[in-house]
Amino acid sequence: MAQQPQQSTTSTPVELTVKPRPGQLTFDAPRRGKPPRHLADFDMAGRREFLAEMGHQPFRAGQLSRHYFDRFATAPEDMTDLPAAGREELVSQALPTLLTTVRSLEADQGDTVKNVHRCFDGATVESVLMRYTHRVTMCISSQAGCGMNCPFCATGQAGLTRNLSTAEMVEQVVQGARMLRGGRVGRAEQEPLRISNIVFMGMGEALANYKASIGAIHRLIDPSPEGLGISARGITMSTVGLVPGIRKFTQEKLPVTLALSLHAPDDELRDELIPINTRWKVDEALDAAYDYYQATGRRVSIEYALIRDINDHGWRADLLGEKLNARGGGWVHVNPIPLNPTPGSKWTASRPGVEQNFVERLRAHGIPTTVRDTRGSDIDGACGQLAATV
Ligand code: SF4
Repeated sequence: MAQQPQQSTTSTPVELTVKPRPGQLTFDAPRRGKPPRHLADFDMAGRREFLAEMGHQPFRAGQLSRHYFDRFATAPEDMTDLPAAGREELVSQALPTLLTTVRSLEADQGDTVKNVHRCFDGATVESVLMRYTHRVTMCISSQAGCGMNCPFCATGQAGLTRNLSTAEMVEQVVQGARMLRGGRVGRAEQEPLRISNIVFMGMGEALANYKASIGAIHRLIDPSPEGLGISARGITMSTVGLVPGIRKFTQEKLPVTLALSLHAPDDELRDELIPINTRWKVDEALDAAYDYYQATGRRVSIEYALIRDINDHGWRADLLGEKLNARGGGWVHVNPIPLNPTPGSKWTASRPGVEQNFVERLRAHGIPTTVRDTRGSDIDGACGQLAATV
């Protein structure tokens, strides 16, 4: 069963985000307001300082962290190891409500759940939980909206509202973990599972919100009670090709997978499909991705949404294969993704035979290629659809 929608607690009206002109990139979020600070914004040392600043005992950081990161608890009545006097105030200051779930939609017999969350300022963001036989993948948002303006993407067309805080990203995962633990994802007879994989492929370009996204990765992978203790190898950082961001991320030397949304191997088409390509070209993005592989040993994923008659030609598969092989072998694999049509869009998925041909031509170049499934496409929870029907 999906979580029942809760009533929003915010009375702040939603500001309208200005829609971008075609090709316009937005790096600076127009909305400056910040969500309340939260325990998950900080590492353990920062949590102690945060609590001390508010007049609380710094050692409460450990207790609160165990409640939040181990037990996914946020209700004061569940924290009986904290003194009753002042408990409510402590918890409301350290763990303020950041996201209120206003809508939950199910697909795939309940194995896929999309949650729509309302933030403190009325902005909405989305996360998707996908349950498979032995793993659970969660797709989270890093920004409200997105400034990268890819013309085939519903999120990009709506524009960028603001960056999410570290805690707002972590809270999406904690809410998902709580749903899983409560048996609210999948069927009753299925064994409970933990979240094993996180992909930063929801709303937003995570590398454009760099500091908060790196903070979130640390909260996800740090061992309990500092973080959620999810394996870094289960995390995928997705980018549309922000080359300076990829280079900076490489320096972090985290064993996280990098996914580069390429969608075209030639600049002429990519300039049109992915406006960021007007700043950093295909070869620069591929060089940065290759260097990421060299520094981390993690094989890079190239994401390629197959769009009918736009980028699905055999010669483009060959060109992609050649460009990847020119940089070395075994460093990359390609995920062609059938495009999820969004309402009113001229962009649509490739014909099945064309998709198969594209895959075979890449394989003929020795490139490991796997067509990605499009879980959740009937609830607009697949890539490029997250702002389609909020
Ligand atoms: S495809 Fe990704 S980067 Fe492009 S607009 Fe959509 S969310 Fe942003």
